[in-house]
Amino acid sequence: MTQQVKRAFKYRFYPTDEQAAELSRTFGCVRLVYNKALEERTRAWYGEQRRVSYVQSSAALTEWKKTKELSFLTQVSSVPLQQALRHLQTAFANFFAKRTQYPRYKSRKKSRASAEYTRSAFTWRDGQLTLAKMAQPLDIRWSRPLPEGSEPTTVTVSRDAAGRWFVSLLCQDSIVPAPAATAAIGLDAGITSLVTLSTGEKIANPRYERRDRARLAKAQRELSRKAKGSANREKARRRVAKVHARIADRRRDFLHKLSTRLVRENQVVVIEDLTVRNLLKNGRLARAISDAAWTDLRMILEYKCAWYGRELVVIDRWFPSSKLCGTCGKVCEKLPLNVRVWTCDCGAWHDRDVNAARNILAAGLAVSACGDGVRPQRESSRTGRSSVKQETQRATAGVPRL
Ligand SMILES: [Zn+2]
Repeated sequence: MTQQVKRAFKYRFYPTDEQAAELSRTFGCVRLVYNKALEERTRAWYGEQRRVSYVQSSAALTEWKKTKELSFLTQVSSVPLQQALRHLQTAFANFFAKRTQYPRYKSRKKSRASAEYTRSAFTWRDGQLTLAKMAQPLDIRWSRPLPEGSEPTTVTVSRDAAGRWFVSLLCQDSIVPAPAATAAIGLDAGITSLVTLSTGEKIANPRYERRDRARLAKAQRELSRKAKGSANREKARRRVAKVHARIADRRRDFLHKLSTRLVRENQVVVIEDLTVRNLLKNGRLARAISDAAWTDLRMILEYKCAWYGRELVVIDRWFPSSKLCGTCGKVCEKLPLNVRVWTCDCGAWHDRDVNAARNILAAGLAVSACGDGVRPQRESSRTGRSSVKQETQRATAGVPRL
């Protein structure tokens, strides 16, 4: 049985000077509206413990447009501005549900510049996309076809730090479920390797990453030597951004291939909930974790499992996956990070990561079988959460791309 899902398709495009100017203006307005609404909400929340709704923010936006200082907001399409308020609403909903930290301001330099257009703010004709306030369609490089007969429902335009323009089209697509599988697998987020599987297989970081990282370090050193505000500094900044973009692109490809394989081969995939927030406190781990892109992988697994009718089980982060002997069940007291292999009192010899992956699998199967077990997560795994993401966050972030 095929399943209807929303899916984003991302492409590069090359704007005319006019389009680039219009979009830059829109990005600026989106950021301003988002930050201003966030400021008001913050004042209400910390000052009066009062929550501001989307409707109230939207009413405020209407008022801002009437003022002299902010009347320029009326010059761009109103839809991306409304969408910015919706994104802020989502950010607060996630914060109040304790899923994320308090929403942060968008910075001109550090945040990705983007604008989201819903159906009323673009036209789609003969495979050509024209945005509101624009005369010509966008010059999109169709690196892969959209699903047959599908039309975008939401369009997100963005420009990355390397100055590249992207458009992400959210479309209805049908997913054919993967053939039945009975296998189950546990994943351990690695430090030395990206992921270790309960089968004993170790998946290394993408092989380019080390070299790219060296390039990144070099580009950053050069950047730090350039005088603030100089044209050379701007050039150096672009170079750093380019290396970053390349690392992210390659990593995304890698994670997509890996996750597709894991989801195809297994009916149940068990992972550990390593909330990065907690891990980041340990400086040494921080880098490895961000490199390992564990959070990206988890997000991709969440929606792919949902698409293909697989079960993703997320194990509580306090589960002692590494320290538990998979043979006798004893938990050893101390297991410093540099200990890669260990022998339990029972005589069992363990590769640290493989043992952890096996324990994660066993714990996951216990949860999966009886619907309860190792202190499962408050919001568990298969869940509305991933579908919520699909609707909201994904429409905006435009990340998932197959
Ligand atoms: Zn043992």
